[in-house]
Amino acid sequence: MTEKEKYLRQLSPVDEVLELPALKDLISTYPRTVVVNAVRTVIDKLRKTILATKKEDELGEISLEPNDLVPLVSELIKEVMSPNLRRVINATGIVVHTNLGRSILAPLAVDAILSVASSYSNLEFDLDEGVRGSRHSHVEDLLCTLTGAEAAMVVNNNSGAVLLALSAIAQGKEVIISRGQLVEIGGSFRIPDVMRQSGAILKEVGTTNKTYLEDYRKAITEETALLLKVHTSNFRVVGFSAEVPLEDLVVLGEENSLLVMEDLGSGVLIDLSKYGLSHEPTVDESVKAGADIITFSGDKLLGGPQAGIIVGKKDLVDAIKKHPLARVLRVDKMTLAGLEETLRLYLDPAKAIKEIPTLNMILASFPELKKKAEKLAKKIKEKVGNEYSVEVIKDISRVGGGALPLEELPTAVAALSAKNLSASQLENKLRTANPPVIARVRDDMVLLDVRTIQPEEMGEIAGALAVL
Ligand SMILES: *Cc1c(COP(=O)(O)O)cnc(C)c1O
Repeated sequence: MTEKEKYLRQLSPVDEVLELPALKDLISTYPRTVVVNAVRTVIDKLRKTILATKKEDELGEISLEPNDLVPLVSELIKEVMSPNLRRVINATGIVVHTNLGRSILAPLAVDAILSVASSYSNLEFDLDEGVRGSRHSHVEDLLCTLTGAEAAMVVNNNSGAVLLALSAIAQGKEVIISRGQLVEIGGSFRIPDVMRQSGAILKEVGTTNKTYLEDYRKAITEETALLLKVHTSNFRVVGFSAEVPLEDLVVLGEENSLLVMEDLGSGVLIDLSKYGLSHEPTVDESVKAGADIITFSGDKLLGGPQAGIIVGKKDLVDAIKKHPLARVLRVDKMTLAGLEETLRLYLDPAKAIKEIPTLNMILASFPELKKKAEKLAKKIKEKVGNEYSVEVIKDISRVGGGALPLEELPTAVAALSAKNLSASQLENKLRTANPPVIARVRDDMVLLDVRTIQPEEMGEIAGALAVL
């Protein structure tokens, strides 16, 4: 028998490990199947390690003592039993970070979600009449007030809103769209592909940089149902370019009895140019311009939960509500609760800016951010001043989420470098800390952008660095 075979034979069977007092303790705390699987996995790994050894003296380094397996088993169990989807600290300065969950919600929205999640609700029940109600009713009036539209409804997300609207009003018909507006929205999903799923036939007109009203006019046939404008959320064609204003499409639509739809992408309810940002088309501007149907996201610049919002002419929205896909894409009660409270905040724009975190973070001023970064740097120095050097420097943060792509928001960051670690090693350690801290690396420094760091997270970051 080879030395390896001897080692393999000495491996403890699963049942024997489970008899250890330490394992009995684990079984009283965690589900038995989880503990048994962890023991099995650890023994399997040990077997593979033994098989992979090349020299006999490597075998001597492997402990077969059952008690030595306990810490490995216990660590594995903790990993399995802790949530996979969890809170992270966003220190990237990108406010609407799609990979980090886009918008964080206003406290009032969070309370509303908690309330309907833990109780029954009047989701589809008319409390005045005692009869079945519509889930759209909870936000429809608010959306109409805020946008000036005749009717409104909400679905799972904006891609769903586009798919549903086109399915209901343009299936099997031609839809005219500018080549300059064929947007890819990230994760390699392309809006034109979503649109084709509706059964609408896309007629692309113009060129990447220039499309004129004449291009739309010439493409109209008997089969045309709709003129479609898509807001080029995440990119801009600058320089030698031309896009047809929505107003002109509306006139062309009226002349030819065609509907006009606009996919606004992010969708904002207040004019951000009043606060020093570039102008981002607001939903009520599109309503005023005469679009029949407008779709936008709930969790981009709006700052609410993931949702797709459809507003427009009443007869069309009513038809969309009745389409079978409306059931497929329907929004859940928690989203509706969070969205309703977020929308209510917009009734007072000053309040919206103060209380909706997405808007609040985007509009934070440089002096305010500089103070915050200095506070973070001080906390870090107090905790770990010997191992790290930290300075406050000026930098740029981005809105993210495919909104306002050219906007450079001046920010202040705490720039960190470690005595014994490279910047990418430090970034990695922060990312795998608990809670994970997601930061940027530049010029061999880790940049912590305070724009997206919440006040209570400042101490946590300093604490995380102390135990790295
Ligand atoms: C983001 C975006 C979408 C997709 O919205 P989701 O809510 O992410 O599904 C569709 N169209 C445009 C123009 C967008 O910017």
